[in-house]
Amino acid sequence: MSELPPSLNPPVRTLLGPGPSDIHPRVLRALAANTVGHLDPYYLSLMNDMQQMLRATFRTANPLTLAISATGSAGMESTVVNLIEPGDSMVVCVNGVFGGRMVDVAERAGARVTRVERPWGEVFEPADLKDALVKARPKVVGIVQAETSTGAWQPLEEISKLVHDAGALLLVDAVTALGGIPVEVDRWGIDAIYSGTQKCLSCPPGLAPASFSPRAVEVILQRKTKVQSWYLDVGMLAQYWGSERVYHHTAPINMTYALYEALRILHEEGLDAAQARHLRNHRALKAGLAAIGIEYTTQAGRELPQLNAVRIPAGVDDLQVRSALLNRFGIEIGGGLGAFKGKVWRIGLMGHGSRESNVLQLLGALELLLQEAGHKFAHGASVAAANAVYAGG
Ligand SMILES: *Cc1c(COP(=O)(O)O)cnc(C)c1O
Repeated sequence: MSELPPSLNPPVRTLLGPGPSDIHPRVLRALAANTVGHLDPYYLSLMNDMQQMLRATFRTANPLTLAISATGSAGMESTVVNLIEPGDSMVVCVNGVFGGRMVDVAERAGARVTRVERPWGEVFEPADLKDALVKARPKVVGIVQAETSTGAWQPLEEISKLVHDAGALLLVDAVTALGGIPVEVDRWGIDAIYSGTQKCLSCPPGLAPASFSPRAVEVILQRKTKVQSWYLDVGMLAQYWGSERVYHHTAPINMTYALYEALRILHEEGLDAAQARHLRNHRALKAGLAAIGIEYTTQAGRELPQLNAVRIPAGVDDLQVRSALLNRFGIEIGGGLGAFKGKVWRIGLMGHGSRESNVLQLLGALELLLQEAGHKFAHGASVAAANAVYAGG
């Protein structure tokens, strides 16, 4: 080449959007460690340790717990295509983008899909599912625990009982949930669950932790047809993750290092302590935003601590504020998706990104930008309100 493109030099950002989130420096160092082979004894023992940490993170004893080599959407696809055979009935709960995506994935897998809907920003009550469970007699019910498009925190315990009473399996999207809020796979009886590395686990995107209950494994073993996807067939993947170590595809070695280190960091802090930290920073952010007239769009009492969906104040230009945050302060927040485009900001406080310094920095910058746009508040009102929360415990 006569002229090479510039050498790699990504700007330093504070990632406070819907993901990817800020990455811990230890995880970045893990990514840069020397690569070994995917059947190297060192790597296999790392995989075992990581699998144990994944089980602890999902709070499950499920033997079939693994990391799918692709992003969260492949986690979704892996759970759906392994449980669904063409013609099977599946109920999907849709109250945002990701429930909608699950419908699409299930239909492509040949499911007869019944959608149960709630308005964006709201969650499902068990009663909302009763009709569909009776009429559709589903094999699988899919639901999103943390709807990243709306900031809604879906309770699962009662719904799980109802789904099992109807003889169906419960499939849960925990992409944004895992690491940020409680996820109790065994206690709640979740049959298939997947996550992603770039939300509250604070890794780069690229792996999808997933877990299948013994009941789900039984259903997979009883299949009459081959799993539609070769790459995501967990029956074959289990032979690599199990003691046989049969080659399936080349594992993304360095991403496994990253997830290993990220899970170590999470368990050093402790799951409960990490969740308490997410809650505390959410409360500080919420108080700070309220002080400058910014309100949440999510159903009251169901706001996710790690994904704060807020109404853009009247007269404020969405893109102008978000580009100023990025260009002047190096802060990324998310815009709205679908019906929320131009109306909602999505502020992620995920994993390593859920820190006092990030909350105070964002509030200070946002307040300045809104003041420059002519909005009037007492100087420092948002930071003061957040600090009051921090000072109060
Ligand atoms: C981000 C996200 C996904 C998709 O994950 P990708 O890593 O972008 O493929 C699925 N579900 C939810 C709830 C998400 O937040």
